[in-house]
Amino acid sequence: MAQDLPKDRTTAPAGSPDGGPQWEAAVRERELAILADISTRLHGEEDVQRILDSTLEALLEGLGLATAWVFLDDEKDHKLRLAAHRGVSPAYLDAVRAHGLGECLCREVLASGHGLQARNTTECPRMPMIGAGLGQPVAHGCVPLAFNGMSRGVLNVAARPGATFEPAELRFLETVGRQLCLAVEGARHLKAERLHNQEARALAALNKGIGESLDPEAVLAAVGRTALEIVRVDRVHILLGSDPRQLTVAHLAGLPHPELRRGQVLDLTALGESLHRRALEEQVRLDTEDWARDDRVNKDIARRWAGAAALILPLVARKATLGLLVLTCASPHRWTEDQVDVAEALASQASVALENARLYDKARRAYRELNEAQARIIQSEKMAVVGTFASGLAHEVRNPLNSIALQLSILERRVAPLPVGVAGEIKELVGVIREEVKRLDNLVGDFLQFSRSNRVQYRPASLDALLDEVTRLLRPEARAAGVTVRRERVGEPIPDLRVDPEKIKQVAINLLQNAIEAMPGGGVATVESGLVDGRAVMVVRDTGPGLPEGLDVFQLFVTTKAQGTGLGLSIAQQIVLEHGGEIAAASEPGKGATFTVSLPVERPDEAAGDEA
Ligand code: ADP
Repeated sequence: MAQDLPKDRTTAPAGSPDGGPQWEAAVRERELAILADISTRLHGEEDVQRILDSTLEALLEGLGLATAWVFLDDEKDHKLRLAAHRGVSPAYLDAVRAHGLGECLCREVLASGHGLQARNTTECPRMPMIGAGLGQPVAHGCVPLAFNGMSRGVLNVAARPGATFEPAELRFLETVGRQLCLAVEGARHLKAERLHNQEARALAALNKGIGESLDPEAVLAAVGRTALEIVRVDRVHILLGSDPRQLTVAHLAGLPHPELRRGQVLDLTALGESLHRRALEEQVRLDTEDWARDDRVNKDIARRWAGAAALILPLVARKATLGLLVLTCASPHRWTEDQVDVAEALASQASVALENARLYDKARRAYRELNEAQARIIQSEKMAVVGTFASGLAHEVRNPLNSIALQLSILERRVAPLPVGVAGEIKELVGVIREEVKRLDNLVGDFLQFSRSNRVQYRPASLDALLDEVTRLLRPEARAAGVTVRRERVGEPIPDLRVDPEKIKQVAINLLQNAIEAMPGGGVATVESGLVDGRAVMVVRDTGPGLPEGLDVFQLFVTTKAQGTGLGLSIAQQIVLEHGGEIAAASEPGKGATFTVSLPVERPDEAAGDEA
């Protein structure tokens, strides 16, 4: 066989006499040396790119050739993509990048990988332009990266001008192809395994941070913490929203952020920050090693946000954009494969966790609204029944009460002439009866007020003026209890509202009276009013003991007072709801209670006219 070898073997070792067994031995020896060199270089190498680059380098150096290139089969779409090259002309690179592989023999070689078929050809349509500076077509060997029936790509090596690869040389290239295939496959496995590990680590860290909570705040805090700890970055900012003109800064972690504040709304379009915007709009991860030198980004923003290297990851759940997770380093930094993998895993876990928290929050809100609506219906049904009963009862009781009060006055007059001791005793008893009558009369008054609470008459009125009047009215009662009543304004003055003034006054009286009653030993009751966020707001706060714990004070007949009816707050709530408003109570034990009423400035049913 050695005698058949042509004199211009493309891989002939320099200086060896061609053709003889010695020469053949030298060829084999050199091939073994190349394989050993490749093997040493690939030992422990996990990066596919480095595997390909150093194999090409070792091969070309060993063979004394100039040009080689590798196509890898893309796992996603099974298209051959140029993955590594040496000595290939820029024109060829441009053509492959722009138009793909074209009609090429490489595909055939890949498909027949099992048979390790090799080609030695000048037929490639792009051949004339492959070798940098060659200026003429050269033959090239094309062998599959194949092992045990699986093909991962093709290795091409250009021969010297005018020479071709002999079958033995092609077999050697096939051996290199096998070696490469194994190394690439091994690296891909390692990468997949590492990715799973990273994902598992990110997931575990995130889960640990979130715990059982479905609270979006807890999710954001855990994502921020995990990014700092696991991806090892200096700053994290999480922007929520899908409109680049309206992104909310939802979380900040790491070193201080000079320009960003939590809750701030950013308009990326107005800011001219295109990298963030692209990542959000195209739902792609984008990164920059040096923000200040990257033409794709706004340098001014980089300076203001103190980021030098940035990893911008879209948060996407069920195809919907939730926002951006942005990780930055304070100085320029080349993102490692590891960092990118973990950050991507973190972004996808964060998206799921945020989406779950959002859905849970939505469900919880719907459930609460349903409960509240149900409670309101039950309350107003109860109110209707009690109202009917109350008006009948009130009239029936008030007449005899008036009569008893009258009789008591007569009795007092009659006992006046009696001896002082007897008269005094009787007067004391009369006093007790009078107190009880007064209490009954108050009770009846509450019931009557209640029975009338569903008749509403709207007319324009000033809430500020109504509250001035109520504070004036109750000041003497407050003073008697040692309570100071303060009247304050908050926000803007309230324009006239269409309300039932008597009823709104009633609400204020009930709230202020409760405040005074809550402070028998004295204190301060404050009545505030003003326009806040477009709504008319009245606040009554006191410095008393706070609301009784575990009681729904708005419920009918709920009272903690010996002489209470538990009607005052129910009535107040009913009236406020009828006005399309809201009433809420807050309290700090030992520090006081605050009742806040907010009324719409324009009532939705205004157009319907007055009700009677
Ligand atoms: P009543 O005043 O007849 O008890 P309300 O409906 O007005 O009925 O109030 C119900 C209960 O709410 C009161 O008994 C009291 O326990 C509690 N409450 C109301 N206002 C205050 C307040 N300002 N401070 C503390 N507790 C209050």
